[in-house]
Amino acid sequence: MAKRDLPWRKHPTPYAVWISEVMLQQTQVAVVIPYFKRWMERFPSISALAEASSEEVIKAWEGLGYYSRARQIHAGAKYVAAHCQGILPQQAEELSKIKGLGPYTVGAILSFAFHQKAAAVDGNVVRVLSRLFLIEQEVSKTSTQKQLRQLTLELLPDDEPWVIMEALIELGATVCQKQPKCALCPIQKQCLAFQSGKERQLPVKIARPSITALTRYVSIVMTQGSLLVRRGGEGKVMAGLYEFPYFESQEEQSQFARTLDLKTNLEHKIPSFTHSFTRYRATLHPSMWKAARKIALSGFEWATWKELEELPFSSGHRRILRHIKTEIENAHGHPAH
Ligand code: SF4
Repeated sequence: MAKRDLPWRKHPTPYAVWISEVMLQQTQVAVVIPYFKRWMERFPSISALAEASSEEVIKAWEGLGYYSRARQIHAGAKYVAAHCQGILPQQAEELSKIKGLGPYTVGAILSFAFHQKAAAVDGNVVRVLSRLFLIEQEVSKTSTQKQLRQLTLELLPDDEPWVIMEALIELGATVCQKQPKCALCPIQKQCLAFQSGKERQLPVKIARPSITALTRYVSIVMTQGSLLVRRGGEGKVMAGLYEFPYFESQEEQSQFARTLDLKTNLEHKIPSFTHSFTRYRATLHPSMWKAARKIALSGFEWATWKELEELPFSSGHRRILRHIKTEIENAHGHPAH
């Protein structure tokens, strides 16, 4: 069975395994690869990451989504710098104390970086094992998770256990996929689900939370070469990311415009579009506004075009920003500044 050529597998340092595994949660491999490479250049060590500002970290994560992962990695790096001399410990209990390191990431670091006999049970392994052993319990249950980790450990040999750990993940990623390719599977003969024809019914999962539809009226307010932005507050989905002011209704948007004495700017039209993030699907209706001057407004700040490039932006609002920039450049024949 061929394995995928992945940059974090070339030099699986504990730090590289940590970053790649967290990036891979909820994100596809092809998307992660360039982010991983850039991240390792920008923050080549845990100490370098610990010393970076939260803005730099969020900026490097921009576009990957689920930003709490970046915040947790940053907090974890600070913890490792302060308590472990900047080096990831080799014991499961010590690794588990680091923020954001769940059982899977701990197992992956122990297995791939420290070459220990450790279970790294990700979604791929869950698929393979639940089918191989015909596990019909719901897989997110603590008892099932424990059973899956135990079964994985039993499959691992004493000699080079990480090779088999990686092979199980690869089998799930390339053969035992959601739609399993059983005809190509090297463990078909041992697979209980295949023998009983239940491979497509497993693993058993509870239904995902449904997608919530949102409507946002986004105001792009400009004056004297600056645009009005605000930073997502702590605890919010977009914490640490910058966005334009937005409102849930046109009434609220008009109220805001009246309070600031903004004038509609119909010179540039930005089409509405939908944008999905975490479990939301937002329809964004952007519109342009002119302010007479840079009014000071609590919670907001004015940023120049150049500053906006440097700020971490939520991807929906980044899309709007690019659109306006191109529009203005096309209209005026020179870069927006
Ligand atoms: Fe998965 Fe099919 Fe292989 Fe069983 S035989 S492990 S279901 S690919």
